[in-house]
Amino acid sequence: MPRPIQATIHTAALRHNLEAARQAAPDAQVWAVVKANAYGHGIERVFEGLRGADGFALLDLSEAERVRALGWRGPILLLEGVFEARDLELCSRLHLWHTVHCDEQIDMLALHKTHEPHRVFLKMNSGMNRLGFAPQRYRSAWTRLNALPQVDEISLITHFSDADGDKGIAEQVARFEEATRDLPGERSLSNSAATLRHAQEASVKADWIRPGIALYGSSPDFPAHSAADWGLQPAMSLHANIIALQQLQVGDSVGYGSSFVADRPMRIGVVACGYADGYPRICPTGTPVLVDGVRSRTLGRVSMDMLAVDLSDLPEAGMGSRVTLWGRAANGAVLSIDEVAQSAGTVGYELMCALSQRVPVVNED
Ligand SMILES: *Cc1c(COP(=O)(O)O)cnc(C)c1O
Repeated sequence: MPRPIQATIHTAALRHNLEAARQAAPDAQVWAVVKANAYGHGIERVFEGLRGADGFALLDLSEAERVRALGWRGPILLLEGVFEARDLELCSRLHLWHTVHCDEQIDMLALHKTHEPHRVFLKMNSGMNRLGFAPQRYRSAWTRLNALPQVDEISLITHFSDADGDKGIAEQVARFEEATRDLPGERSLSNSAATLRHAQEASVKADWIRPGIALYGSSPDFPAHSAADWGLQPAMSLHANIIALQQLQVGDSVGYGSSFVADRPMRIGVVACGYADGYPRICPTGTPVLVDGVRSRTLGRVSMDMLAVDLSDLPEAGMGSRVTLWGRAANGAVLSIDEVAQSAGTVGYELMCALSQRVPVVNED
Protein backbone atom coordinates (compact mmCIF):
# COMPACT_ATOMS: atom_id res chain seq x y z
CA MET A 1 0.00 0.00 0.00
CA PRO A 2 1.31 3.46 -0.83
CA ARG A 3 1.73 5.96 2.00
CA PRO A 4 -1.72 7.19 2.95
CA ILE A 5 -1.38 10.74 1.65
CA GLN A 6 -3.17 12.23 -1.29
CA ALA A 7 -3.91 15.56 -2.91
CA THR A 8 -7.27 16.01 -4.58
CA ILE A 9 -7.96 18.55 -7.31
CA HIS A 10 -11.57 19.68 -7.34
CA THR A 11 -12.75 20.33 -10.89
CA ALA A 12 -16.09 21.80 -9.79
CA ALA A 13 -14.31 24.28 -7.50
CA LEU A 14 -12.11 25.45 -10.38
CA ARG A 15 -15.20 25.98 -12.51
CA HIS A 16 -16.90 27.83 -9.67
CA ASN A 17 -13.89 30.09 -9.01
CA LEU A 18 -13.53 30.90 -12.70
CA GLU A 19 -17.16 31.97 -12.68
CA ALA A 20 -16.54 34.11 -9.57
CA ALA A 21 -13.70 35.89 -11.40
CA ARG A 22 -15.94 36.45 -14.40
CA GLN A 23 -18.64 37.92 -12.25
CA ALA A 24 -16.18 40.35 -10.71
CA ALA A 25 -15.38 41.67 -14.19
CA PRO A 26 -18.32 40.66 -16.36
CA ASP A 27 -17.23 42.58 -19.45
CA ALA A 28 -13.69 41.25 -19.55
CA GLN A 29 -12.23 38.15 -21.12
CA VAL A 30 -10.38 35.88 -18.74
CA TRP A 31 -6.84 34.61 -18.92
CA ALA A 32 -6.68 31.62 -16.60
CA VAL A 33 -3.16 31.89 -15.20
CA VAL A 34 -1.65 28.39 -15.11
CA LYS A 35 2.05 29.18 -14.64
CA ALA A 36 4.11 27.03 -12.26
CA ASN A 37 2.23 23.93 -13.37
CA ALA A 38 -1.09 25.57 -12.53
CA TYR A 39 0.16 26.76 -9.14
CA GLY A 40 1.18 23.22 -8.26
CA HIS A 41 -2.16 21.66 -9.20
CA GLY A 42 -0.98 20.21 -12.52
CA ILE A 43 -1.90 21.73 -15.89
CA GLU A 44 -3.54 18.52 -17.09
CA ARG A 45 -5.52 18.26 -13.85
CA VAL A 46 -6.97 21.78 -13.96
CA PHE A 47 -7.65 21.90 -17.69
CA GLU A 48 -11.16 20.48 -17.52
CA GLY A 49 -12.18 22.90 -14.76
CA LEU A 50 -10.67 25.94 -16.46
CA ARG A 51 -11.41 25.27 -20.11
CA GLY A 52 -14.25 27.79 -19.90
CA ALA A 53 -11.61 30.55 -19.76
CA ASP A 54 -10.92 32.65 -22.85
CA GLY A 55 -7.22 31.87 -22.77
CA PHE A 56 -4.39 30.41 -20.71
CA ALA A 57 -1.50 32.54 -19.46
CA LEU A 58 1.80 30.99 -18.37
CA LEU A 59 5.56 31.40 -18.50
CA ASP A 60 7.20 28.23 -19.79
CA LEU A 61 7.16 27.17 -23.41
CA SER A 62 6.96 23.57 -22.26
CA GLU A 63 3.77 24.41 -20.37
CA ALA A 64 2.37 26.06 -23.49
CA GLU A 65 3.10 22.85 -25.40
CA ARG A 66 1.22 20.89 -22.75
CA VAL A 67 -1.83 23.14 -23.05
CA ARG A 68 -1.79 22.71 -26.86
CA ALA A 69 -1.37 18.95 -26.40
CA LEU A 70 -4.62 18.96 -24.41
CA GLY A 71 -6.34 20.19 -27.56
CA TRP A 72 -6.66 23.86 -26.59
CA ARG A 73 -6.83 25.91 -29.79
CA GLY A 74 -7.64 29.26 -28.19
CA PRO A 75 -5.25 31.97 -27.01
CA ILE A 76 -2.16 31.21 -24.93
CA LEU A 77 -0.12 34.11 -23.55
CA LEU A 78 3.51 33.94 -22.44
CA LEU A 79 3.54 36.35 -19.51
CA GLU A 80 7.30 36.97 -19.66
CA GLY A 81 7.58 36.62 -23.42
CA VAL A 82 10.49 34.78 -25.00
CA PHE A 83 13.87 34.20 -23.40
CA GLU A 84 15.86 33.66 -26.58
CA ALA A 85 15.36 34.15 -30.30
CA ARG A 86 14.54 30.55 -31.14
CA ASP A 87 11.62 30.59 -28.70
CA LEU A 88 9.89 32.70 -31.34
CA GLU A 89 9.83 29.71 -33.67
CA LEU A 90 7.71 27.83 -31.19
CA CYS A 91 5.51 30.91 -30.77
CA SER A 92 4.89 30.87 -34.51
CA ARG A 93 4.30 27.13 -34.62
CA LEU A 94 1.97 26.98 -31.60
CA HIS A 95 0.34 30.36 -32.23
CA LEU A 96 1.39 31.74 -28.88
CA TRP A 97 0.77 35.34 -27.98
CA HIS A 98 3.66 36.80 -26.09
CA THR A 99 4.53 39.66 -23.83
CA VAL A 100 7.21 42.08 -24.99
CA HIS A 101 8.82 43.78 -22.03
CA CYS A 102 12.28 44.88 -23.20
CA ASP A 103 14.22 46.14 -26.21
CA GLU A 104 16.00 42.81 -26.62
CA GLN A 105 12.70 41.07 -27.26
CA ILE A 106 11.85 43.62 -29.96
CA ASP A 107 15.30 43.03 -31.52
CA MET A 108 14.61 39.29 -31.61
CA LEU A 109 11.22 39.81 -33.23
CA ALA A 110 12.73 42.10 -35.85
CA LEU A 111 15.03 39.25 -36.94
CA HIS A 112 12.37 36.53 -36.74
CA LYS A 113 11.17 34.89 -39.93
CA THR A 114 7.50 34.06 -39.75
CA HIS A 115 4.63 33.62 -42.18
CA GLU A 116 2.06 34.82 -39.72
CA PRO A 117 2.62 37.98 -37.71
CA HIS A 118 2.43 37.62 -33.94
CA ARG A 119 -0.03 39.02 -31.44
CA VAL A 120 1.99 40.71 -28.73
CA PHE A 121 1.26 42.26 -25.33
CA LEU A 122 3.49 45.28 -24.74
CA LYS A 123 4.30 45.54 -21.08
CA MET A 124 4.54 48.76 -19.16
CA ASN A 125 6.51 49.07 -15.96
CA SER A 126 3.98 51.25 -14.17
CA GLY A 127 5.69 50.93 -10.79
CA MET A 128 6.41 47.28 -9.99
CA ASN A 129 9.93 47.62 -11.42
CA ARG A 130 10.26 44.04 -12.55
CA LEU A 131 9.38 43.86 -16.23
CA GLY A 132 8.31 46.41 -18.81
CA PHE A 133 9.03 49.73 -20.44
CA ALA A 134 8.87 52.83 -18.29
CA PRO A 135 5.89 55.05 -19.16
CA GLN A 136 8.07 57.60 -20.95
CA ARG A 137 9.62 54.88 -23.14
CA TYR A 138 6.38 53.00 -23.79
CA ARG A 139 5.23 54.90 -26.83
CA SER A 140 8.51 54.55 -28.68
CA ALA A 141 8.50 50.82 -27.99
CA TRP A 142 4.96 50.66 -29.34
CA THR A 143 5.93 52.60 -32.45
CA ARG A 144 8.89 50.34 -33.08
CA LEU A 145 6.80 47.19 -32.65
CA ASN A 146 4.03 48.57 -34.80
CA ALA A 147 6.45 49.06 -37.68
CA LEU A 148 7.53 45.41 -37.70
CA PRO A 149 6.01 43.09 -40.29
CA GLN A 150 6.41 40.29 -37.70
CA VAL A 151 3.83 41.97 -35.46
CA ASP A 152 0.10 41.83 -35.86
CA GLU A 153 -2.01 43.34 -33.08
CA ILE A 154 -0.43 45.04 -30.09
CA SER A 155 -2.21 44.79 -26.75
CA LEU A 156 -1.27 46.81 -23.68
CA ILE A 157 -0.44 45.16 -20.39
CA THR A 158 0.79 46.13 -16.94
CA HIS A 159 0.95 44.47 -13.51
CA PHE A 160 0.15 45.85 -10.05
CA SER A 161 2.42 45.65 -7.03
CA ASP A 162 -0.18 46.47 -4.37
CA ALA A 163 -3.57 45.32 -5.57
CA ASP A 164 -3.94 43.29 -2.37
CA GLY A 165 -3.03 46.03 0.09
CA ASP A 166 -3.66 49.51 1.38
CA LYS A 167 -1.48 51.30 -1.14
CA GLY A 168 -3.79 50.06 -3.87
CA ILE A 169 -3.48 50.53 -7.60
CA ALA A 170 -4.51 54.13 -8.24
CA GLU A 171 -1.02 55.47 -8.96
CA GLN A 172 -0.14 52.69 -11.34
CA VAL A 173 -3.49 52.95 -13.12
CA ALA A 174 -2.95 56.70 -13.55
CA ARG A 175 0.51 56.16 -15.07
CA PHE A 176 -0.80 53.50 -17.40
CA GLU A 177 -3.78 55.61 -18.47
CA GLU A 178 -1.67 58.67 -19.06
CA ALA A 179 0.88 56.87 -21.21
CA THR A 180 -1.60 54.82 -23.25
CA ARG A 181 -4.46 57.28 -23.66
CA ASP A 182 -4.43 57.50 -27.43
CA LEU A 183 -2.92 54.10 -28.20
CA PRO A 184 -5.18 51.51 -29.79
CA GLY A 185 -5.27 47.90 -28.61
CA GLU A 186 -6.80 45.69 -25.96
CA ARG A 187 -5.79 46.25 -22.36
CA SER A 188 -4.97 43.85 -19.54
CA LEU A 189 -4.31 45.07 -16.02
CA SER A 190 -5.72 42.98 -13.21
CA ASN A 191 -4.48 39.94 -11.34
CA SER A 192 -6.81 38.22 -8.84
CA ALA A 193 -6.53 40.89 -6.16
CA ALA A 194 -7.19 43.76 -8.57
CA THR A 195 -10.05 41.82 -10.15
CA LEU A 196 -11.79 41.11 -6.85
CA ARG A 197 -11.05 44.42 -5.12
CA HIS A 198 -11.00 46.97 -7.93
CA ALA A 199 -12.46 45.63 -11.18
CA GLN A 200 -15.71 47.56 -10.71
CA GLU A 201 -13.83 50.89 -10.79
CA ALA A 202 -14.26 52.53 -14.18
CA SER A 203 -10.55 53.26 -14.63
CA VAL A 204 -9.66 49.60 -14.12
CA LYS A 205 -12.09 48.20 -16.64
CA ALA A 206 -10.07 46.30 -19.20
CA ASP A 207 -10.45 43.77 -21.99
CA TRP A 208 -8.63 40.93 -20.25
CA ILE A 209 -8.27 40.05 -16.59
CA ARG A 210 -5.53 37.68 -15.38
CA PRO A 211 -6.70 35.80 -12.29
CA GLY A 212 -4.43 33.12 -10.91
CA ILE A 213 -4.67 32.49 -7.19
CA ALA A 214 -8.43 33.12 -7.02
CA LEU A 215 -9.03 30.28 -9.49
CA TYR A 216 -7.35 27.94 -7.05
CA GLY A 217 -9.56 29.07 -4.19
CA SER A 218 -7.08 31.04 -2.12
CA SER A 219 -7.72 34.65 -1.16
CA PRO A 220 -5.33 37.15 -2.78
CA ASP A 221 -5.67 39.50 0.19
CA PHE A 222 -5.91 37.22 3.22
CA PRO A 223 -6.45 38.04 6.06
CA ALA A 224 -8.26 41.22 4.99
CA HIS A 225 -10.63 38.88 3.16
CA SER A 226 -10.84 35.12 3.37
CA ALA A 227 -11.51 32.86 0.41
CA ALA A 228 -15.01 32.36 1.81
CA ASP A 229 -15.53 36.16 1.88
CA TRP A 230 -14.78 36.18 -1.84
CA GLY A 231 -16.98 33.13 -2.45
CA LEU A 232 -14.02 30.99 -3.52
CA GLN A 233 -13.74 27.24 -3.00
CA PRO A 234 -10.50 25.31 -2.48
CA ALA A 235 -9.34 23.66 -5.69
CA MET A 236 -6.84 21.46 -3.86
CA SER A 237 -7.21 19.36 -0.73
CA LEU A 238 -4.30 17.66 0.97
CA HIS A 239 -5.22 14.65 3.08
CA ALA A 240 -3.21 12.09 5.02
CA ASN A 241 -4.10 9.41 7.52
CA ILE A 242 -3.20 8.91 11.15
CA ILE A 243 -0.71 6.03 11.17
CA ALA A 244 0.11 5.90 14.91
CA LEU A 245 -1.29 7.01 18.26
CA GLN A 246 0.56 8.02 21.40
CA GLN A 247 -0.58 8.74 24.93
CA LEU A 248 1.36 11.58 26.54
CA GLN A 249 1.79 12.14 30.25
CA VAL A 250 2.52 15.53 31.80
CA GLY A 251 6.05 16.51 30.81
CA ASP A 252 6.25 14.24 27.73
CA SER A 253 7.43 15.94 24.56
CA VAL A 254 6.66 15.41 20.87
CA GLY A 255 9.04 15.14 17.93
CA TYR A 256 12.48 16.57 17.15
CA GLY A 257 13.78 19.18 19.53
CA SER A 258 11.02 18.40 22.06
CA SER A 259 9.48 21.72 21.14
CA PHE A 260 6.06 20.72 22.45
CA VAL A 261 5.73 19.50 26.04
CA ALA A 262 2.39 18.22 27.38
CA ASP A 263 1.07 20.07 30.43
CA ARG A 264 -1.67 17.47 30.90
CA PRO A 265 -2.27 13.89 29.79
CA MET A 266 -3.20 13.89 26.12
CA ARG A 267 -3.73 11.61 23.16
CA ILE A 268 -1.99 12.50 19.94
CA GLY A 269 -2.09 11.17 16.38
CA VAL A 270 0.88 10.82 14.05
CA VAL A 271 -0.01 11.82 10.47
CA ALA A 272 1.65 10.56 7.27
CA CYS A 273 2.55 14.03 6.02
CA GLY A 274 5.79 15.94 6.45
CA TYR A 275 7.89 18.62 4.87
CA ALA A 276 8.99 16.24 2.11
CA ASP A 277 5.36 16.30 0.99
CA GLY A 278 5.33 20.09 0.82
CA TYR A 279 3.89 20.79 4.25
CA PRO A 280 5.97 23.67 5.66
CA ARG A 281 8.43 22.63 8.35
CA ILE A 282 8.16 26.08 9.86
CA CYS A 283 4.51 25.61 10.87
CA PRO A 284 4.53 25.83 14.67
CA THR A 285 2.47 24.02 17.29
CA GLY A 286 -1.10 25.18 16.88
CA THR A 287 -1.27 25.22 13.10
CA PRO A 288 -4.86 24.26 12.24
CA VAL A 289 -5.79 20.86 10.77
CA LEU A 290 -9.06 18.97 10.38
CA VAL A 291 -9.27 15.46 11.84
CA ASP A 292 -12.23 13.60 10.33
CA GLY A 293 -13.48 17.06 9.43
CA VAL A 294 -13.15 18.50 12.95
CA ARG A 295 -10.74 21.29 13.70
CA SER A 296 -7.65 20.53 15.74
CA ARG A 297 -3.99 21.58 15.73
CA THR A 298 -0.49 20.35 15.06
CA LEU A 299 1.89 19.61 17.93
CA GLY A 300 5.66 19.99 17.90
CA ARG A 301 7.96 20.08 14.95
CA VAL A 302 6.97 18.93 11.47
CA SER A 303 9.40 16.21 10.38
CA MET A 304 10.23 14.95 6.91
CA ASP A 305 7.51 12.32 6.69
CA MET A 306 5.25 12.90 9.68
CA LEU A 307 3.63 15.44 11.90
CA ALA A 308 1.63 15.13 15.11
CA VAL A 309 -1.89 16.35 15.84
CA ASP A 310 -3.83 16.87 19.04
CA LEU A 311 -6.63 14.33 19.60
CA SER A 312 -7.45 15.44 23.16
CA ASP A 313 -10.95 16.59 22.28
CA LEU A 314 -11.52 14.00 19.57
CA PRO A 315 -12.24 10.66 21.29
CA GLU A 316 -13.67 9.19 18.06
CA ALA A 317 -10.48 9.79 16.12
CA GLY A 318 -7.93 7.02 15.88
CA MET A 319 -5.83 4.87 13.57
CA GLY A 320 -6.78 5.57 9.96
CA SER A 321 -8.59 8.82 10.71
CA ARG A 322 -8.35 11.19 7.79
CA VAL A 323 -6.54 14.45 8.43
CA THR A 324 -7.09 17.40 6.12
CA LEU A 325 -3.94 19.52 6.02
CA TRP A 326 -5.78 22.03 3.83
CA GLY A 327 -8.86 22.02 1.67
CA ARG A 328 -12.19 20.26 2.06
CA ALA A 329 -12.88 17.32 4.38
CA ALA A 330 -15.36 14.55 3.63
CA ASN A 331 -17.98 16.19 5.88
CA GLY A 332 -17.73 19.41 3.88
CA ALA A 333 -15.70 21.35 6.47
CA VAL A 334 -13.08 23.60 4.88
CA LEU A 335 -9.64 24.52 6.16
CA SER A 336 -8.35 27.27 3.91
CA ILE A 337 -4.77 26.93 2.70
CA ASP A 338 -4.48 30.62 3.62
CA GLU A 339 -4.73 29.82 7.33
CA VAL A 340 -1.97 27.25 7.12
CA ALA A 341 0.13 29.65 5.07
CA GLN A 342 -0.35 32.34 7.68
CA SER A 343 0.99 29.96 10.35
CA ALA A 344 4.02 29.44 8.14
CA GLY A 345 4.46 33.20 7.65
CA THR A 346 3.75 32.94 3.93
CA VAL A 347 0.92 32.95 1.41
CA GLY A 348 -1.28 30.22 -0.04
CA TYR A 349 0.53 30.58 -3.38
CA GLU A 350 3.77 29.21 -1.93
CA LEU A 351 2.17 26.20 -0.27
CA MET A 352 0.23 25.05 -3.30
CA CYS A 353 3.20 25.54 -5.62
CA ALA A 354 5.37 23.48 -3.24
CA LEU A 355 3.21 20.36 -3.18
CA SER A 356 5.83 17.69 -3.57
CA GLN A 357 6.26 15.28 -6.47
CA ARG A 358 5.90 12.30 -4.20
CA VAL A 359 2.30 13.13 -3.24
CA PRO A 360 -0.17 11.19 -5.41
CA VAL A 361 -2.78 13.47 -6.97
CA VAL A 362 -6.30 12.59 -8.07
CA ASN A 363 -9.13 14.55 -9.64
CA GLU A 364 -12.59 14.77 -8.21
CA ASP A 365 -15.59 16.83 -9.21
C1 LIG B 1 1.11 35.42 -11.81
C2 LIG B 1 0.57 36.56 -12.57
C3 LIG B 1 -0.79 36.87 -12.51
C4 LIG B 1 -1.75 36.16 -11.59
O1 LIG B 1 -1.61 36.67 -10.30
P1 LIG B 1 -2.54 36.20 -9.09
O2 LIG B 1 -2.12 37.04 -7.96
O3 LIG B 1 -2.23 34.76 -8.87
O4 LIG B 1 -3.93 36.41 -9.53
C5 LIG B 1 -1.26 37.89 -13.32
N1 LIG B 1 -0.43 38.58 -14.14
C6 LIG B 1 0.88 38.31 -14.20
C7 LIG B 1 1.75 39.11 -15.11
C8 LIG B 1 1.43 37.31 -13.43
O5 LIG B 1 2.74 37.05 -13.51
